[in-house]
Amino acid sequence: NPICRRCFRIKHYNEALSAAVPADAFRHILEQIGYQDGLILHIADVFDFEGSLIAGLHRYVGQKPVILAVNKLDLLPKAINVNRLVHWVKKQAKANGLKVQDAVMISARKNIGFDRLASTIAAYRDGRDVFVVGAANVGKSTLVNRLIRDYSDLDLELTTSRYPGTTLDLVRIPLDDGRELIDTPGVLYPYRLTEIVPKHELQSLVPDKPLKPAVYQLDPEQTVFMGAYARFDFLQGAPQSFTFYTANAIHLHRTKLERADALYEAHKGEMLAPPTRETLTVLPPWTREEFHTDGKQKQDVFISGLGWIAINGDSGAKVAVHVPRGIRVGLRDSLL
Ligand code: GDP
Repeated sequence: NPICRRCFRIKHYNEALSAAVPADAFRHILEQIGYQDGLILHIADVFDFEGSLIAGLHRYVGQKPVILAVNKLDLLPKAINVNRLVHWVKKQAKANGLKVQDAVMISARKNIGFDRLASTIAAYRDGRDVFVVGAANVGKSTLVNRLIRDYSDLDLELTTSRYPGTTLDLVRIPLDDGRELIDTPGVLYPYRLTEIVPKHELQSLVPDKPLKPAVYQLDPEQTVFMGAYARFDFLQGAPQSFTFYTANAIHLHRTKLERADALYEAHKGEMLAPPTRETLTVLPPWTREEFHTDGKQKQDVFISGLGWIAINGDSGAKVAVHVPRGIRVGLRDSLL
């Protein structure tokens, strides 16, 4: 009885493999899930929260309960208040059209939050199957690996089922209680920087160690480059500080707004890096978007896949970001 490579790895090595499909194919998978009874475990990434949310999930899975597990907690400062973070996650999920039964902060890599996750799943599962969904690179395979080791019964026959319209099988992993954990491929969203850079640049873009925030005290008409991936202009407002949260490998560079265009042309891919000059030739040209804050509430400008910038002043600011065309950017309540 032939089984696919993903199933083979799980069965013989207890190891889930990452697999990914474009958003259209993923919609077919969600439609199929919609016809079945179960609990949805949605994995998101705290480093790219907005970009890793599956907006419109309810359109396909209806009223099924959704638990949101936000991974990579290890990247945030240790002193963080997790309860406050969970509150933020629920609020932001709702603002993005996602109604979640509960949210749990986890680190699949550092094994944080698993007891809480297991008890939350148990509380909402009601003896049903668990469908694991998430965007690519959020750490879904790392998480599923842990769940397999701790909760599955691999002596049972591992079954797979092919759904129409998809080239990838959904992997069904038997749980101890006779139900199944169903792993779906990760969905690829073209508006995340991580999905459009070549694979070899990913290691400089994706943080591997806890973020080291960089604080810049800026005057209006100053610019900070985030490597050659993006540029942040402080246009108007009282002098104030901005905190940059990006992977440590992203070189930040401050300059005057009036010099920024020329500096970019002269130094992109070299002093302003990563990425390399070569990679820049395959990325789309930049587009510019402006944001205004009134300072009443602390806000971040997020750049999907690259990180975020916290606006720290309390009297408002007008800023602009330049990012490769198509990359999602936005303003949100501050994460930290
Ligand atoms: P998938 O595409 O969602 O299945 O993601 P993977 O499990 O393959 O993980 C994608 C990347 O995120 C890999 O480089 C992992 O090492 C990394 N990763 C997974 N979990 C964590 C985590 O909890 N913390 C951090 N910092 N990185 C993680």
